[in-house]
Amino acid sequence: MDLDSHIRRIPDFPKPGILFYDISTLLHNAAAWAAAVERMSGLVADWKPDLVAGIESRGFLFAAPVSIALGTGMVMVRKVGKLPGTVVSHSYDLEYGSDTLQVSDGLVPRGARVVLIDDLIATGGTARATVQLLQKIGAEVAGAAFLIELDGLGGAARMGVEVRRALTYPA
Ligand code: AMP
Repeated sequence: MDLDSHIRRIPDFPKPGILFYDISTLLHNAAAWAAAVERMSGLVADWKPDLVAGIESRGFLFAAPVSIALGTGMVMVRKVGKLPGTVVSHSYDLEYGSDTLQVSDGLVPRGARVVLIDDLIATGGTARATVQLLQKIGAEVAGAAFLIELDGLGGAARMGVEVRRALTYPA
C-alpha cells in the first residue's frame, strides 16, 4: 500500500509557510487506514510493550488500534485539564511560552515498558516532553513511533529513545 498517496498536503496551514500533512484522507480510505495501522503495529511490535501511549489528539487514532493489535492496554497523554482524578504533569518550553502534558496517576506501573505513538514528529518537542513525563512516573520508554517524520528538524535525535517512522518528508 502506498500510504504517501493517501496523505493530503495543505499549504499554509495553520499559518503561512507551513505545509500541513493531513491524515484525514488516509483515515477516510478503509484499505489505506488498515494498512497504516498494520504498518505502525509492525514498527513497534518487537519492542514488546506492556502499554502503548498516545499523544492527544491524532496520536490517539494510531495508539488505540495499535494497542489492540499488540494485545496491550493504552494510555492517554493529554493537554492540561482534560483528565479527571489525580494526574501527573510535565511542562515544557515552546518557541513562545510553555505547555503542559498530563497522564492519569497510578495507571502506569513503575517499570512498565511503554511505547509512544503519534502521527507526526516535527521538532520533537511534544514527543520529548511525553517521554520525560512517562519516565517521571517510572515507565521504561522502549521507543517512539510516528507515521511521519519531518526530516531536517532534529526531532528524532532530540528524543533520547529509539525512534521509528513509516514515512519521511522534507521539513
Ligand atoms: P513537534 O512538537 O514540533 O514535533 O510537533 C508535533 C505535532 O505537531 C504533531 O503531533 C503533529 O500533529 C503537529 N504537526 C507539526 N507540524 C506538522 C505538519 N507540517 N503537518 C501536520 N502536522 C504537524
